[in-house]
Amino acid sequence: MTATPDSRSPLPAARPNVLALVGNTPMVEINRLDTGPCRLFVKLESQNPGGSIKDRVALAMVEAAERDGRLGPGATIIEATAGNTGLGLALVAARKGYRLLLIVPDKMAREKVLHLKALGAEVRITRSDVPKGHPEYYQDLAERLAAEIPGAFYVNQFGNPANPQAHETTTAPEIWEQMGRDVDAVVAGVGSGGTITGLGRYFQRVSPKTEMVLADPEGSVLAHYIATGELLEAGSWKVEGIGEDFIPPISDLGLVRRAYTISDAESFETARDLLVQEGILAGSSSGTLVAAALRYCREQTEPKRVVTLIADSGNKYLSKMFNDFWLLDEGFVPRSRSGTVRDLVT
Ligand code: PMP
Repeated sequence: MTATPDSRSPLPAARPNVLALVGNTPMVEINRLDTGPCRLFVKLESQNPGGSIKDRVALAMVEAAERDGRLGPGATIIEATAGNTGLGLALVAARKGYRLLLIVPDKMAREKVLHLKALGAEVRITRSDVPKGHPEYYQDLAERLAAEIPGAFYVNQFGNPANPQAHETTTAPEIWEQMGRDVDAVVAGVGSGGTITGLGRYFQRVSPKTEMVLADPEGSVLAHYIATGELLEAGSWKVEGIGEDFIPPISDLGLVRRAYTISDAESFETARDLLVQEGILAGSSSGTLVAAALRYCREQTEPKRVVTLIADSGNKYLSKMFNDFWLLDEGFVPRSRSGTVRDLVT
C-alpha cells in the first residue's frame, strides 16, 4: 500500500481564517490491526485547529447564540469545563473577540489550565470535592456567574441543542460522503452525548441500516443502562472525555443498538497499538473507541464497513498513557516492553 502524492486529493485553497478550518477532517483506513472480516476507518477529529472534535460544537454553539441574539459584541462566554470544549471555545472566543470565562474543578491537570490561559481564556478554579447542587460545584457556579455578569452567555454543552446539531449537520454528512455512502456501523463514546446523538439522528434518516455503537469506559453507567435500563452507581476510570455518572440530557441513547464496556487497560493498550502499528497519535478516548470498534469488527461474520472517531490527539497524553512509568505507577503493566523499570524510557 503506497501513498504517493498522486493518490491525494488536490490541495484546498487558502481559507479566510482559522475557524474556516474546523471540520472537513480526513478519514483513514486501519489496516495493520486485526479487523476480522471488516474494513475499519477512523476520522481524524484531532486535526481540527483547536485539536479536537469539540471545535465543531464550540463554533456551532457560539454561532447559534449569535444568530438568536443571546450573544452579542463585548459579551462574556461562560462554560464549565477544562476539557476539549474549553479549548474549542477559547479558539472561537479569541478569533471572534469575546471574553471567555471557564469554571474549572481543581483536580484538572495544570497543563490544561495553562493551555486555556495561553489561548486568552480566564480560568476560575473551583472545588472538585462538592456534588451537583452545591454553590461551588463547577456547573452551578458557571450558571450563577452567567446570571450575574451582564450580557453573559452560558454555553451549557450538556443541554445545548446546537451541540448534537453540529454533528448532525457536519460530522455525519462528512462521514457519509467519505465512506462512499455505505456505512454499516459507527462507533462513538458519550461525554455530553452530542456526537452519538447527532450522528445517530443523521444515519437513522439517511441510512437506517447503519448501527450506532457505544464505546463506554468501565465504571461509566451508560453501557449498562443501554443494555438493561438500570442506572447503577458509577465507578471511576482514567480515560478522559467519555463515560458518565448520569444520562446527559442532550443525549438520545435510544439511537444506540449495541454497547461495549472497555477497561482503561484495553483503551491505553489500543491507543498505543494505534500509534505503533498505524502511526496514528490518538487520545485516550480514541483508544476506547477503537478497542470497541475492533471488538465489533471481530464479532462479525459478514464483511462490514465500520467508522470510528479520533476525538483528540495523543500529544496531551504523552506523560500519561504513553509513558511507561505512569502506567506502572497507576498499576497498569506496559505490555510492549519486557525490560525492567530501569530500562524504561520516560
Ligand atoms: N472524546 C474526547 C477526548 C472528548 O473530549 C469528548 C467530549 N467530552 C468526547 C470524546 C465525547 O464527545 P461528546 O461530548 O460529543 O459525547
